[in-house]
Amino acid sequence: MTSVRTRFAPSPTGFMHVGGVRTALFAWLLAQQAKATGEGTFILRIEDTDKVREVAGSIEQIENSLKWLGIRWDEGVDQGGPDAPYKQSERLDIYKEWAQKLIDAGRAYADPYTQEELEAFREQAKAAKRPFLFRDHRPENPPVWDGSQPLRFKSDPKPYQWTDAVMGELSTGEDAIDDFILIKSDGYPTYNFCHIVDDAIMGITHVLRSQEFISSTPKFLNLYDALEVDRPTLATLPFVMAIDGKKKLGKRDGAKDILEYAKEGYLPEAMANFLATLGWNDGTEQEVFTMQELIEKFSLDRVQKSPARFDEQRLLWLNGQHIRALSLDDLYTRVTDFWPASAAGASEESKKQVLALVQDRMKTLADLSILTSYFFEEPTPNWEMVSSNKQLAKLTNDEVHALLEEAKNSLSASDFTAEAIQATLNNLLEITGQKPGILFSLIRLAVSWAPFSPALNDTLATLGKEVTLQRLQVSLDSLK
Ligand code: GLU
Repeated sequence: MTSVRTRFAPSPTGFMHVGGVRTALFAWLLAQQAKATGEGTFILRIEDTDKVREVAGSIEQIENSLKWLGIRWDEGVDQGGPDAPYKQSERLDIYKEWAQKLIDAGRAYADPYTQEELEAFREQAKAAKRPFLFRDHRPENPPVWDGSQPLRFKSDPKPYQWTDAVMGELSTGEDAIDDFILIKSDGYPTYNFCHIVDDAIMGITHVLRSQEFISSTPKFLNLYDALEVDRPTLATLPFVMAIDGKKKLGKRDGAKDILEYAKEGYLPEAMANFLATLGWNDGTEQEVFTMQELIEKFSLDRVQKSPARFDEQRLLWLNGQHIRALSLDDLYTRVTDFWPASAAGASEESKKQVLALVQDRMKTLADLSILTSYFFEEPTPNWEMVSSNKQLAKLTNDEVHALLEEAKNSLSASDFTAEAIQATLNNLLEITGQKPGILFSLIRLAVSWAPFSPALNDTLATLGKEVTLQRLQVSLDSLK
């Protein structure tokens, strides 16, 4: 039986952006997948030991972002678990104990130097053109550690070779290993130390994290050895780059709060699909995945080594695909906040009728308002839309008037089911000798004054006979 225990371990330093959420998603997918055949556990651990960088409200923001995406954790800050607490600032005694073990084994020492002294060492190394290594300056008789000095790891420099589940075979020389700080003089442990302690205690089997940590990995390996704990599988996820592939994703390229996307009308399943395929594929051409498919198909060995590019157009396309795949009832529950204000008094039945008409055209839920407002409110005639339309601009005012008049007359005699309207419209084409591109566009504008609408017969049937005729009249009257 397989047992997979993964964790997402964010620092509460602000909102969650795509890169961070992707890491969480991959770790969660791995645990969910293991649940099918054995045990899978996903842990949310908050790494809040850098008090200077902490931003108030971040933990809630992180939790809400994960929840929005449909990611639930089995153990974590809010609901606890066997290794609680899951907030590192509440685990300081544990880190002290583990630090003491290292001191007792002769593998940690109090750092007696002032900032100035350290600076002088650095300058010396620079002048001698060699890399600065703290271990070249280990004090001969370090003071007894009383917590007022940083506690440093006494490393055992050696070359390492290891396998990263994504990056493959990696190796480094002994220069990559130095004496790093385990516990700072403010009493808080460093990330380098406490994440290893926690991963060991929590029995983490797979550590998934961003590429920015790859250069620190040799240090971690050295510490695993000193602590005599098993190494988890390490999986380094490549950076997410801006669309040009040249720089890391910044605010301008879409690195915004993931919850902003919710406000803009993106579906969580589309976002999960997008994030999962940001650097992963299942080996086929498939692009649209349900969450269940992602859980079944995800594998670390198909995560690409090279950076992924963040393509917001692709996200938009995927969102449209996922909107289309929803049942009407499901979609209806998702669009609650996106109706035009004028729909407030409309019945559920009529709103669903309108929604069914525009479902295929929506790329985001926020498109709903512009796509449907004319069903709920009187549009204002805007003849600019006719004169700026290449085909329609060729018509004279008299021709426009005659065509709309003709349409009104024919439609007033129609039964007004979608089929009957289509027959009327086809008949109109014959009477007027116009192309559908001209006649139908003109009628569409005259009843909606919207840039696009669903099929004309469906639109008219939904508006109803009375409203259709009245709008045609208003448009005729406004034509000067
Ligand atoms: N606290 C680290 C961060 O937010 C986590 C890195 C890790 O997953 O080990 O980047």
